[in-house]
Amino acid sequence: MDAEVPQPTGSLADSFRRLIRNTGPISLTHFMGESNTRYYADKDPLGRGQDGGGDFITAPEISQMFGELIGLWMADVWIRSGREEYVHYVELGPGRGTLAKDALRAARKYGLEPRIHFVETSQALKDIQLTTVPGAIWHNDLSTVPQDGPILLIANEFMDALPIRQLVRSGGSWRERKVGLQDDEFVFVAGAQPMDSAVPADMRDAPEGAILETCPGAAAVMYEIAGRLVDQGGVALIVDYGHDAMRLGSTLQAVRSHQKVEPFATPGKADLTAHVDFATLAKVAISRDARHLGTVAQGDWLRALGIETRAQNLAARAPQYADEIAAACDRLIADDQMGQLFKAMGFASPNWPDAVGFTED
Ligand code: SAH
Repeated sequence: MDAEVPQPTGSLADSFRRLIRNTGPISLTHFMGESNTRYYADKDPLGRGQDGGGDFITAPEISQMFGELIGLWMADVWIRSGREEYVHYVELGPGRGTLAKDALRAARKYGLEPRIHFVETSQALKDIQLTTVPGAIWHNDLSTVPQDGPILLIANEFMDALPIRQLVRSGGSWRERKVGLQDDEFVFVAGAQPMDSAVPADMRDAPEGAILETCPGAAAVMYEIAGRLVDQGGVALIVDYGHDAMRLGSTLQAVRSHQKVEPFATPGKADLTAHVDFATLAKVAISRDARHLGTVAQGDWLRALGIETRAQNLAARAPQYADEIAAACDRLIADDQMGQLFKAMGFASPNWPDAVGFTED
């Protein structure tokens, strides 16, 4: 698209309206998928807020410690796996490339110098990644990532942006929760078709209005990752916010300029996300014989990797930033900040060793 030509505002909302008027309500999956594709296509949403701008901030943008510890985590398990030289670093949705830059710098000190593969669909973010990590190779999805060596895969705040599907209990049966129109406003409507068989037996009798959320895209990506771990060797680390058991309720949310906004208010202009259902993703991976190393709270995981010592060392070397470093560390690990809501979930090839942070010791 020519960058000089301004997009007519509200164009995605208008095309949704036209589509709904012509064909009836659309699935939430469709609404969220199109909205996020448009949202990420031509902007960098990451920023600190107020003076720093942006819509939201992520762990690697809060502190270099996050990416560095992930790099050390990878280097450690890679060394204990036998240090195979030809290995692929794969990152899904690398944002500004900050995590990769920090992780690869830390890993290089231990001899780990992998080929670098980014799965990214946003042109705006690709442009930034190109300067942050010049040696990377880009892919639109996992299918083109080489299959000829072990993978060290990381996805931070990637799964939460993939489109979800919701079912709602309505009129005594479960139906797809769709997006329709009331006058010109988007509203949730229940689909006409009962689909109780899509709901686990122990949830079928939930009360009227109950919502069951799934993320078919995340399950598909997990399935692919797990198959590659088994075939190629390696480890995968999924870090995101969410819950570790399937449960009822909608977690759909929209964020713009660091504020929660109404999910239907500005399609394509706010980041739509939902909680990641870690338990279901683990089941998918295990069904393909990948090894689930564990799912732990981000705070516990980073503590096990030594973030507090790392923060103290950094502060000792740069006392003028000591308060900033302590605040960043707290933001990443404190229970009332990212420490509990965010989780780290690890997987390994059956032939690869355990990894730090997921074992008892
Ligand atoms: N991991 C980064 C960025 C998180 S934002 C960080 O922690 O800072 C989500 C990222 O996923 C962005 O890079 C976005 O462009 C990318 N993304 C979202 N949906 C995608 C999709 N379907 N395929 C590939 N990348 C996608």
